[in-house]
Amino acid sequence: MNLSLVIPVFNEQDNLPLLFDALYKTMNTLKDSWELILVDDGSRDKTKLILQEYAEKDPQHVRAVILRRNYGQTAAIAAGLDHAKGEIIVLMDADLQNDPSDIPMMLAKLDEGYDLVSGLRKQRKDNAVTRNFPSMIANWVISRVTGVHLHDYGCTLKAYRREVLEGFRLYGEMHRFIPVYAASVGANIAEVVVSHHPRKFGKTKYGLERTAKVILDLFTVKFLVSYSAKPIYIFGGTGGLLMIISAALMLYLLVRRSLFLISVTGSPLFQTSVMFFILGFQSMLMGLIAELLVRTYHESQRKPTYTVRAKFNLNTNE
Ligand code: UDP
Ligand code: MG
Repeated sequence: MNLSLVIPVFNEQDNLPLLFDALYKTMNTLKDSWELILVDDGSRDKTKLILQEYAEKDPQHVRAVILRRNYGQTAAIAAGLDHAKGEIIVLMDADLQNDPSDIPMMLAKLDEGYDLVSGLRKQRKDNAVTRNFPSMIANWVISRVTGVHLHDYGCTLKAYRREVLEGFRLYGEMHRFIPVYAASVGANIAEVVVSHHPRKFGKTKYGLERTAKVILDLFTVKFLVSYSAKPIYIFGGTGGLLMIISAALMLYLLVRRSLFLISVTGSPLFQTSVMFFILGFQSMLMGLIAELLVRTYHESQRKPTYTVRAKFNLNTNE
């Protein structure tokens, strides 16, 4: 199998027929073998029946995973990925805001030697206040914090080589952070402009609150990508810094005491210094515990602390 298209679907009964029409139109022009993996994320409308119908009509191409309840877009995507067999995986929304006709162009970009091609919705057709503006800020912050500069993390339409998706579990709203993880395992990432359309049927499942979730997830992602192999660096680093500040404050108090006879314990700086010392010390200990956890994490799964791009004269499973 060359190409798997993974599409999460939640209450999109009116969009599905149009989606399938558009997909077939594009996919039939491809030379490679392909499959569609649609994940019904606990829809309460006719989504499941429609998927079943299409799956029965075209068993060669259409596969459907029906989840028991609504788990959210990221979990639905994860379910789809677990069933995808393609060497190349394309993620997309079911509501036709993304345009399947952009896929061949993205595949061509992958062929240029990229591992991940990310869609960029230049002319985004969503609510400006609750969606486009917060997402502009979020994109800027994420790019800054992670060092992976993309203009549209939120665009689901992205094409991936299978390797960059492996060894990575999706939680929360994490699917948008796949590029960050991919970059951390050495992926070459390209961004291409894709079309975006307003929703024809149904309504968006998200509002402003998602930006907040995304920013919280960013903390986790940054920590996992940058420090998960060496947590002591961040805990010990912060801890050390706090203890240095604590020592500096104490020194200042002692010098003031000996030169000007100002009481050490009377000053609020004294409490601050003690507090910083305790916090710093605690943070270092936490770092050590985190180090233990990391070892358990990697060793229990036999998960290496590195990823391999290619091997010569070596068996790939070795
Ligand atoms: N979706 C899902 N589970 C959810 C919410 C959304 O599978 O709990 C799907 C939805 O059917 C669509 C995609 O995720 O295919 C994106 O959702 P939506 O269009 O509401 O998001 P927006 O485009 O407004 O960001
Ligand atoms: Mg949408």
